[in-house]
Amino acid sequence: MLSDDDILAAVRRGLGAAGADDAAFPAAGARITRHLLVAGEIVRCVETRTEGTAFHAGTRDLSDLPEYDDLDRYPIPAPADPGAARSTLRLVRRGSVAARACSTCTNGRKPCARCDGAGDVGCRTHVPCSGCEGRLCCLACEGTGKRAREAADRPQAETAARVRCRKCGADEVACGKCRGAGQKKCGVCRGTGSRTCPDCEGGGTVSHDFCAGTGRYVEWTEGVVVREPVVDTVEESSGLPARAFGWTNEADAWGRVDHVGEDAFPPHDTATGLAGGTGLAKATDLAKATGLDPAPGTPGSTTPASGTTPTPDLSEVAARLKPRLARRDGEVARRVRVRYLSLARVTHDDHPHRVYVVVPRRPAPRVVTVRSPRRAWRLAGLAVLVLVAAVAVSRLLT
Ligand SMILES: [Zn+2]
Ligand SMILES: [Zn+2]
Ligand SMILES: [Zn+2]
Ligand SMILES: [Zn+2]
Ligand SMILES: [Zn+2]
Repeated sequence: MLSDDDILAAVRRGLGAAGADDAAFPAAGARITRHLLVAGEIVRCVETRTEGTAFHAGTRDLSDLPEYDDLDRYPIPAPADPGAARSTLRLVRRGSVAARACSTCTNGRKPCARCDGAGDVGCRTHVPCSGCEGRLCCLACEGTGKRAREAADRPQAETAARVRCRKCGADEVACGKCRGAGQKKCGVCRGTGSRTCPDCEGGGTVSHDFCAGTGRYVEWTEGVVVREPVVDTVEESSGLPARAFGWTNEADAWGRVDHVGEDAFPPHDTATGLAGGTGLAKATDLAKATGLDPAPGTPGSTTPASGTTPTPDLSEVAARLKPRLARRDGEVARRVRVRYLSLARVTHDDHPHRVYVVVPRRPAPRVVTVRSPRRAWRLAGLAVLVLVAAVAVSRLLT
């Protein structure tokens, strides 16, 4: 973290003041606030374990699946990568496998319901004639064989020639296709009145769906363990607007945390462990508890990565992340991967319309000058006044 002197010197340099010209930007009248930017993600691997009855038609060898006695206690190592894609592990409760013969069928087959096991079904012996359907098959006897006194008229728009009726013997009165009969022998059963059952194709039995025609099935108690990553995106700017991230870039002196492992879990009694400590000690313990060791080469970190006293920045990162680090139901692993940067915001009584943001960077910090929010509001207010005045004038003119 930069000292107040470093920050003021950076602003003076940014103003182009020669050397460290205190007069151009005196310490008196300057107000410095520090703001930590933290961005990245906390990825948790979250696990659910469920138990249910599994069923498999036919036979099945389950010996390749792991067995358990108490699913909740079955040990599964934490994933190497908490962000790994969703995975499903299936297990078998020890002693639960039951291979059975199907009791509602015979070797996988059962009587056909459609034909009641007979193999054939009823069929009509005759079908209506397609030539005269809905019209007269014979103008003289209507298919009865008894000639009427007067022949009926030909149906309207009929063009086909009429032939001699086989039933009543009259000439040129009958439909050419059925010759007065009005119907034809059924083509499916050839007039026998029975046809092969389409469901069992004549066999009288069908495959039993339940056992998939095998006559056997297997049931067991199955445990299913599903693991999937849950990502919590972090983007905090501690008092600065979110656009503050836009004032920075990759080349700035970001600190980085990338931690995976058991010690990334805060112990349940973390609060007790922290009680009574000083503010710094609290943050230090928390940083240890949350696994927020500075990555090697982190700016400001002069001590080795393991078991270190974190820099003030890192302590604040730990404090910022703490509300997000509670253990979630089913959490089995987590990865904390964030970058952080402490910006200084400087205002000065002599420069009321400007805000100077000092961004740590090597070899020297850089300064971003932004318009004072107060000035921005004033400009916006002025724009509204001009608009109101313009509307008022235009009303007066009309
Ligand atoms: Zn049948
Ligand atoms: Zn006839
Ligand atoms: Zn006909
Ligand atoms: Zn038929
Ligand atoms: Zn069956």
